[in-house]
Amino acid sequence: MEAHKEEVSRIAERVQAFQRSSTPFRIYHGSTLSTRESVRQRDQIIDTSRLNHVIRFNKQEKTVLVEPNVSMDALVDATLREGLLPKVVMELPNITVGGGFAGTSGESSSFRFGLFDRSMRGIEVVLGNGEIVWATGDREDPHRDLFFACAGSCGTLGVVTLLEMELIDAQPYVELEYRAVGSVKEAVAVLQEAEQDSSVDYIDGILYSMKNGVIMIGKLQAEPIQDCVQSFDKPSDPWFYLDAEQILKRIENGEKSYKQSVPIKSYFFRYDRGVFWGGGIAFKYFCMPFSNLTRRLLDPYMYSRTMIHALHRSGISSQAIIQDLGVPYESAEAFIKWTDEKTGFWPLWLCPVKPPPRDECSFSMANVGPDKTVLDVGIWGMGPKDSRRFVALNREFEAKVAELGGIKCLYAHAYYTEDEFWRIYDEQKYTGLRRKYHAGSLPSIYDKVKVDLQGVAGPHSVRQQETWGEWTSRSFWGTWPFGGLYGVASATKGLVVESDFLLKK
Ligand SMILES: Cc1cc2nc3c(=O)[nH]c(=O)nc-3n(C[C@H](O)[C@H](O)[C@H](O)COP(=O)(O)OP(=O)(O)OC[C@H]3O[C@@H](n4cnc5c(N)ncnc54)[C@H](O)[C@@H]3O)c2cc1C
Repeated sequence: MEAHKEEVSRIAERVQAFQRSSTPFRIYHGSTLSTRESVRQRDQIIDTSRLNHVIRFNKQEKTVLVEPNVSMDALVDATLREGLLPKVVMELPNITVGGGFAGTSGESSSFRFGLFDRSMRGIEVVLGNGEIVWATGDREDPHRDLFFACAGSCGTLGVVTLLEMELIDAQPYVELEYRAVGSVKEAVAVLQEAEQDSSVDYIDGILYSMKNGVIMIGKLQAEPIQDCVQSFDKPSDPWFYLDAEQILKRIENGEKSYKQSVPIKSYFFRYDRGVFWGGGIAFKYFCMPFSNLTRRLLDPYMYSRTMIHALHRSGISSQAIIQDLGVPYESAEAFIKWTDEKTGFWPLWLCPVKPPPRDECSFSMANVGPDKTVLDVGIWGMGPKDSRRFVALNREFEAKVAELGGIKCLYAHAYYTEDEFWRIYDEQKYTGLRRKYHAGSLPSIYDKVKVDLQGVAGPHSVRQQETWGEWTSRSFWGTWPFGGLYGVASATKGLVVESDFLLKK
């Protein structure tokens, strides 16, 4: 704790210095999952990368004090040693506690616990004037407004330096039941039924087309099912979504479900190898045969730590549509049908998320009504090559989700005009909080998430500052296959995400 205090004082002094000289600054923590382009001014950053410790457990209260730069896999290792687990563990092991809190993150236990930020009891924040405050959701807490709004505000209200997180009892396995579904309607019915079952701990789904998919229902388990243990973390293991597809084929013509036991850590990070189905997209990009053998040979490149690095370095992240879009259940079928018509992207990921009470909304859940489970639909694929069509499609997605009463995750690119953006999020409240907490030297959330596009004309063009050419940049390196090769080559350097060049936008 002493080392933590020293590091936070150092951060606070630097923030104060920025405030005195009216220097705008950004937060940097050494890696990022966001697909947004990063900036590189080293002299204008607050570096939180050394805040990477799990500090102290309170086993009686089942809580832990954790620094923001602890990754999901390090957090799970530490909690498992105490016989405990985080309530929500994001599926990719390199997502950090701070990034998950300040970005928008959820996973298959979010139907019960809500987004990742909902499992926090309190946060330590260095404000824009260097003051260090502890904020909680308690009604009497003077910083209650900061506690809720800081979640999902992409680091634009202050620097989070410590979090108190609630935990649950651990078990070594997840018993995973696969249930075949033949339509979106059926998928929604199975999801809703599973949510009502108090013995269920985890729920997510994969749709392979409008007519087939699988819902996976998990229960924490002390003992595995005899002779039916499957892991997904070794090179010899199958990729999770491919295995689920095989299971689906086996059960489609016979009984309606199948069960297996998955070791707990392997369950949490089941989508890491192949980054859901991003690995399949990469094979297609390089025109590589997609087989057991090639997947095995290229296994070291197929983990999210390496693949996300390659995605950034190659510039492909600005050509891909990587979005999570949440819609109410009643709009799910219409939205997925529309997505199919517009993109033909399959598979799609389904993850139900419990909304917070209205007065405890994070910034990112701004317009979601109470009691309405949000069905997160993960949509990932390469966008149209033509820049105008690319922007138009992204803007159509944003309009469609708004029309259906849904919301988009702000971890990725946003194409809203400023007016459109503030019709969705509460500008008055947000700017009031920025003033109250001296956040003027941090970028505003709209400035962080928007894509500046200049020269992309047409009916869907947005307010523009940089050229499209600059944005997709990379002229030579942005073209097939050089961008991808460059990304892979740079990620190969030690096969680690050594992204000190990435100063998070
Ligand atoms: C391909 C892909 C797959 C994904 N899959 C999943 C998934 O399976 N499950 C899931 O839940 N989410 C998923 N996400 C979304 C992901 O959880 C969010 O993008 C998350 O915010 C990433 O966290 P990070 O640690 O990489 O942080 P970053 O992306 O670096 O940060 C997120 C935001 O938080 C801010 N921030 C970081 N640290 C601090 C701090 N200490 N104080 C204040 N602000 C801070 C950053 O400035 C940034 O604006 C996925 C994203 C992508 C691109």
